[in-house]
Amino acid sequence: DIAYVNGAYIPIDEARVSILDRGFLFADGVYEVAAVIGGRLIDNESHLSRLERSLRELRIGSPIPVSRIAEVEAELVARNGLSEGLVYLQITRGAAAEREFGFPAEAAPTFVAFAQKKNIIASPAAETGVKVLTVPDLRWARRDIKSTALLAQVLAKQAALEGGCQEAWMVDQEGFVTEGSSSTAFILTGANVLVTRLNSSAVLPGCTRKAVQVIAEREGLTVEERSFSVAEAYEAKEAFLTSASNLVLPVVSLDGRPIGSGAPGDTSRLLRRLYIEWATNTSRT
Ligand code: PMP
Repeated sequence: DIAYVNGAYIPIDEARVSILDRGFLFADGVYEVAAVIGGRLIDNESHLSRLERSLRELRIGSPIPVSRIAEVEAELVARNGLSEGLVYLQITRGAAAEREFGFPAEAAPTFVAFAQKKNIIASPAAETGVKVLTVPDLRWARRDIKSTALLAQVLAKQAALEGGCQEAWMVDQEGFVTEGSSSTAFILTGANVLVTRLNSSAVLPGCTRKAVQVIAEREGLTVEERSFSVAEAYEAKEAFLTSASNLVLPVVSLDGRPIGSGAPGDTSRLLRRLYIEWATNTSRT
């Protein structure tokens, strides 16, 4: 497998960054993950504009123009012969001589990327649906920035796994679901209204969420962007999650209570199918 490190393409097990890198010391960096289907990056303009925004919010300089990042991603897809999977990229504030919290004057950003093979479309979880566990949202107040500081999400996902679930939905102090540990949360109410939280500093603005919202509205579904409580989610007709790596994934239980019939819902399955159609028709590397 070939990775990219600051301008060089090298075997992934030889790829290295400094222990003084601020990504390692402070999680002072941002990342993106885009899916690859049929050798093409899906919805990548959306991911790159979010990357640009994350960098701007943290005042990290881009190591190369953002428009050229897509070329690096495409090169990784080609060099790895990747047909289906993910491209991960990370940019940190770089390595400085000393471990000081303040921004270093001299550091140049570090840019690493790699590709990973994964079954995106033929996913067993899409057939069975996933079980979700709710956990308190322990994260900081700028969740709109896709930073590599993911400890709360790591603990949330681990709690889900240890509870026999595949994803965690994080819950704010008022009892409203914010989002999944690495996905956006949706419910479908009994009145056939799709509900997902309004984008704000409380959640990451999902690229897949945005595309699914457009597709759902085109199908005549109403999408309400508002907070929903755990109690409302328990009573939902359907639930699903969205993310670049899982597309649209039906949720079949929440905290051990079946959602709807306890099987993937019709609307969730329809939206997955339509998202795949949209992604495979419109994306260009
Ligand atoms: N929320 C969080 C916290 C995430 O980590 C992710 C995955 N990047 C998402 C939502 C979904 O975003 P996207 O659809 O852009 O992958």
